[in-house]
Parts: sequence; structure tokens; C-alpha cells
Amino acid sequence: MKQDLEQLFLHIITKGKKDNTYKFALGKFLLEIAFNCTIIKEIKISYDDIAEAFLKYYWFQECKYKIKQDFKQNSQPQVISIIQNYCGTEYIADSFDMYFQKHDFKNNIIQEIKQKCLYDVIPRFQPDESNLFYKHHHEKSLKKYKIPKQEKRYIIFNEKAVAYFKTNYELFHKALILEWAKFLEKTNFTPKLIAKIENLGKTKRSSLLKYKKILLSIDKSNKCFYCGSNLDNNIHVDHFIPWSYVYDDEIWNLVLSCSSCNLKKSDYLPSKDCLEKIKLRNFKYNFLQVNKDIDEYYHNCKKSGFLEYSSNCKPIITVV
Ligand SMILES: [Zn+2]
Repeated sequence: MKQDLEQLFLHIITKGKKDNTYKFALGKFLLEIAFNCTIIKEIKISYDDIAEAFLKYYWFQECKYKIKQDFKQNSQPQVISIIQNYCGTEYIADSFDMYFQKHDFKNNIIQEIKQKCLYDVIPRFQPDESNLFYKHHHEKSLKKYKIPKQEKRYIIFNEKAVAYFKTNYELFHKALILEWAKFLEKTNFTPKLIAKIENLGKTKRSSLLKYKKILLSIDKSNKCFYCGSNLDNNIHVDHFIPWSYVYDDEIWNLVLSCSSCNLKKSDYLPSKDCLEKIKLRNFKYNFLQVNKDIDEYYHNCKKSGFLEYSSNCKPIITVV
């Protein structure tokens, strides 16, 4: 049984259809359900819950990280079209929860994902009619799966599979993330792809205090990088190229700013003038080895769909 589960899981995530990443999303969802359960038992899961997890995983990829999903020419997966339809195609600075507090169409998206995306992927974890992972209410007739009636749209996650997924969560999750990232690598040049996919919906940002101390110690001017105003005690550390793109804290990408500029800029991309300014800053403080990269990061970030920040907060162009 255990060997069967392992072999089948690995077979599903490494082989088969290559036109979307739904099977990875479903695999991740099942692993997380098992990992988070407190009592090992059979778990009944509604299609709504699966669709909601899909929304979260793909919302982060589309609206936050701008990871491209068009593996087939001139075509993108339905889930992305649905999200774009409601949320637009531009980068969204709000967090997932904040965004859906402001917009009341979350349930509409979930219903559309349920209707248009799940019926193909649910049977993927049940090749040859095996019920190793779960039972569902798709009735199989020859090659086609019938769509279950509204009230029967759920799966029953097997107790043994739940126990095995929970015990082996780390290993299976790593394997799945690696395959998912390998798949996305073909159409993306975004940095830290594996880390982004691993943490979909669970972003953990670390304290920037140590960088604040370093930046304060090397630059005594005590001015906001963007507007040039004198910094009071409320000094912010800002990611020049948005954190959502770089997905790391690197000294070459960090600047001191006033709270107003930091909050207004959020995860937008600064202007080209600011790019020249940070390159000079990095040159001065001997971070110059990264200047070739910062151009590339800036260009690719913009190409990925991150918006440029525009406001009255102009940079002061001075050779520092
Ligand atoms: Zn400022």
C-alpha cells in the first residue's frame, strides 16, 4: 500500500499531460489537508474547498508574482482567464485577504473555477479507477467522466492516504514543488521560482532591522532615497525592486525611505530616474558587482507586469 501510494504519486506529478499545472495544485492541496489534520481519519472535501485553494495558489502566481502560465501557444489555462476576468491583468499590491475584503466576487470566482477547472483534474489522481487517494463522485463510462450532480461534488480522502501524506509531507511536498517549478521554468525568468511556488499564500517576510543599521551606518545623509526629505525617527527600509519579484532581502536592493514614500510605493517599481540613482548608490558603496543584475531585474520585473510607481515623490538626482 505504502509503496503503491508513493509510486503513484510520483508517477502522477512527473508524467502525463503538460498543458497546465492543475495536478500540482491539487497535489499540494491534498498534502496540506493531510498535514494540517489533527486526527487521522477519512476526510470529506467539497469541490468548493478545492476551488478556493486553486484560487489562492493561482491568484498569487498571477496577481502577485506575475508567473506566466501560457505553456500552449496563444492559450492560457482557464483558471488564469477566470482570475484575470475578475481581478484584471495588472499587478496587485494588496494582500490576498485585503484584496478580497475590498471586492465581493471571491465566491463567483470559486464557482467558476469549480465548474471550469476541476472536472479534468479530479480524476488525474485516480488512474485505472484506483481509489488509493480518494473516492469521488465522477462515474466513469468508457473514456469520459460524467459530471456529478451539484450536491455530490466532493471527494472522500482515504484514511490511509491521509496518514501517509501526513507522515511524508515534507518529502512529497518538496518533490511536487520541484516538478511544478521545473514546469514553470520553461516560460518564466522570474527569480526564486521554487521558493515562490513553495510558499503560495504563506508569505513570511523577515525583519529588515539589520539592513537598516547597515544602511544608516554607511549613508550619513539621513535623507529619504525617493523624495530627499530628512528622515525622522520613523525610518523605513524599502525594497527598490518589489519584494514580490526579487523575493529576497538583498542589500543592493534596499534603500532608506520616509514612511510616506514607503507606503505609497508599496510593491510598485520605481521610475527609471530612481534606477540610475540606486546604481550610483551601489557603485559608491561597492555593491557595484550587482549593477549589471539590477538592470536585468528591473527590466524583467517590468516585463513580467509589475507597474511603475508614479507620484509627486520625485527622486533627487545627485551624484552621491
Ligand atoms: Zn520620501
